[in-house]
Amino acid sequence: MSGDDARVASTTPAAVVAERLRITEIFHSIQGEADAIGWRTVFVRLTGCPLRCVWCDTEYSFYGGDWHAIEDILAEVASHGAGHVCVTGGEPLAQKRCLILLQKLCDAGYEVSLETSGALDVSAVDPRVHKVMDLKAPDSGESRRNLWSNLDCLLPHDQIKIVIASRGDYEWACSMLAEHALADRCMVLFSPVHGAVQPRELAEWIIADRLPVRFQMQLHKLLWNDAAGH
Ligand code: SF4
Repeated sequence: MSGDDARVASTTPAAVVAERLRITEIFHSIQGEADAIGWRTVFVRLTGCPLRCVWCDTEYSFYGGDWHAIEDILAEVASHGAGHVCVTGGEPLAQKRCLILLQKLCDAGYEVSLETSGALDVSAVDPRVHKVMDLKAPDSGESRRNLWSNLDCLLPHDQIKIVIASRGDYEWACSMLAEHALADRCMVLFSPVHGAVQPRELAEWIIADRLPVRFQMQLHKLLWNDAAGH
């Protein structure tokens, strides 16, 4: 083996690992929420999340998954012929190489969105990506994890999502709206927790209080009752 060959042999495994992500699923569906709602979208669901929200509906993404080379992920995304790609989880930013995937998806010309918990630093996310960033309300059990400095990383095309499980959560969300001037930063979405708050009740609170927020229900739950793969 030449000196060069030896260097390749010793560096290739690390280089390959550096380009891989642990993936729970990749699927083609309709975007069920946020500003790209209704668009045919390829979802790339990364495995793992350091949070444990009480009402989490993707617990199956916490463990397991398979390692995929980023180039293979790009090829699978392309095979579905959709213009929109949503990188989600779990918490996708828990895998640092997610940033590479996001950049490559943008370079390939997709409209890219990132669903993130708001607990991890978003400052290095490609600015072309539409971030849909949660602020965790008290009933999630994870409110202390909100990384408030992330608010200063949001761009006008990003969105803040607050999932509301009770009147107490709603009042907290109203306080945050005022205290952090959330609606001046980007679109703010209020979404009811399925089975915890009646959607109509939340809609009526928003109307009564004349809030500058966008009410949303998850379209995929209405269409497919939240079955995996949609
Ligand atoms: S951050 Fe998202 S994936 Fe993680 S526990 Fe909360 S809802 Fe579930």
